[in-house]
Amino acid sequence: MGTTRLPRPAQTVLGPDKDTFLPTENPFEQMMSRFDEAARRLNLEPGLYRILRMPEKQIIVSIPVQCDNGEIEVYTGYRVIYNTSRGPAKGGIRFDLQVNLNEMQALAAWMTWKCAVVNLPFGGAKGGVICDPATMSNGEIERLTRRYTSAIIETLGPDSDVPAPDVNTNERVMAWVMDTYSMHKRHTVTAVVTGKPVAMGGSLGRREATGRGCMIVTREALRQLGRPLPGCRVVVQGFGNVGSVAADLMAKAGMTIVAVSDKSGGIHDPKGLDLTAVFAHVKERKLLKDFPDGHHVSNQELLTLDCEVLVPAALENVITHENADAIKAKVICEGANGPTTAAADRILNQKGVFVIPDILANAGGVTVSYFEWVQDRGGYFWDEETVNSRLEKIMVQSFEEVTAMARRHGVDNRIGAYMLAIDRVATVHRLRGMYA
Ligand code: NAD
Repeated sequence: MGTTRLPRPAQTVLGPDKDTFLPTENPFEQMMSRFDEAARRLNLEPGLYRILRMPEKQIIVSIPVQCDNGEIEVYTGYRVIYNTSRGPAKGGIRFDLQVNLNEMQALAAWMTWKCAVVNLPFGGAKGGVICDPATMSNGEIERLTRRYTSAIIETLGPDSDVPAPDVNTNERVMAWVMDTYSMHKRHTVTAVVTGKPVAMGGSLGRREATGRGCMIVTREALRQLGRPLPGCRVVVQGFGNVGSVAADLMAKAGMTIVAVSDKSGGIHDPKGLDLTAVFAHVKERKLLKDFPDGHHVSNQELLTLDCEVLVPAALENVITHENADAIKAKVICEGANGPTTAAADRILNQKGVFVIPDILANAGGVTVSYFEWVQDRGGYFWDEETVNSRLEKIMVQSFEEVTAMARRHGVDNRIGAYMLAIDRVATVHRLRGMYA
């Protein structure tokens, strides 16, 4: 393998004179700046570097939908297939007003590295439609889903491209995608999507899988740092699917949850929150803001509370150069995608914070999606204990592989995870050779 000469520096785009590079806020370039560093350290061949920096296929479709009032609305939808060298493309479908091609490219690349970190036989993809489902009826969302599915049907299939839920989509939407695809194929194809209802081929344990994965890698990090779980204080930002399950399982593993938050703000008790009361409150009132016990804190204050473990499990870009220095946690488990900016990473590294990067920390979800696909294809379903023990094995092994890679190359865990992932994808490209 020769020394890599990267065609262009990270976080830049080729300027209009085709000779200089300009800085960009493009989310794809932001994310790929980590890819660039890992590729440089791996001495990736320039040709492979160019291949892995581009999506394989990008589809843009117009989706006409008849609204309940009889009018026709036309939505724009995307599906980006980033890389399929290791297997079928895997990645969610989001319905959101912020959806754009750039974001789809970034998320599809992210899925490629995430699947490779946990060594699943999948590539990466992402899809979405620019819309605001909160303003649409169920019928309109169903018609949008079915028309979008039929517009991208050539790419879909258990062997080619397998969607899953993402922002503002859920198991109901996945059921419609599966049904539309099956109607076109003239037979039932459960393995075309994951995150389906259990009654129609979904997997037990899928709902809890991402939070469970967070608990497992946090436990492994604390073990590696020689810190016993009892007495470890945990702060969780975001009390949704990922954050609430992570908090619950970390408490069951012996840690003390001292603060949690949602979009309405956070609650803090240095002696430990009564999680049973918190869950009962959220079940009844949805948001944490009126929770009667503990001190109320803002989401900003929450990040810098005294604790051993911080789990950002809500939004991207919440740990920045402005607050990274004030963070007191020794371990950060990135339940959310992209919660830490590149500038914050440098500060956290200098402070010696042990960051478990998103592409490892929240990979439990896609791992159980893989189990769902395997079960659908085999037509044989596992009990929850089997799902959880197989998830545990993959998360522990991936944690060891990422941290070993980071130690071997003297890099942080994030670059270690990217190096592991890129090396796996690149190895398959080399073995397969190039079809000319
Ligand atoms: P969710 O919608 O179930 O929960 C999100 C939580 O974040 C809610 O409690 C919400 O109130 C809170 N929140 C929203 N805005 C906030 C703000 N400004 N400040 C603080 N909290 C805020 O979503 P989820 O499925 O738990 O996903 C959370 C994150 O994890 C996202 O980044 C998602 O991409 C990532 N993720 C989820 C999965 C999965 O399987 N669900 C897998 C991988 C990654």
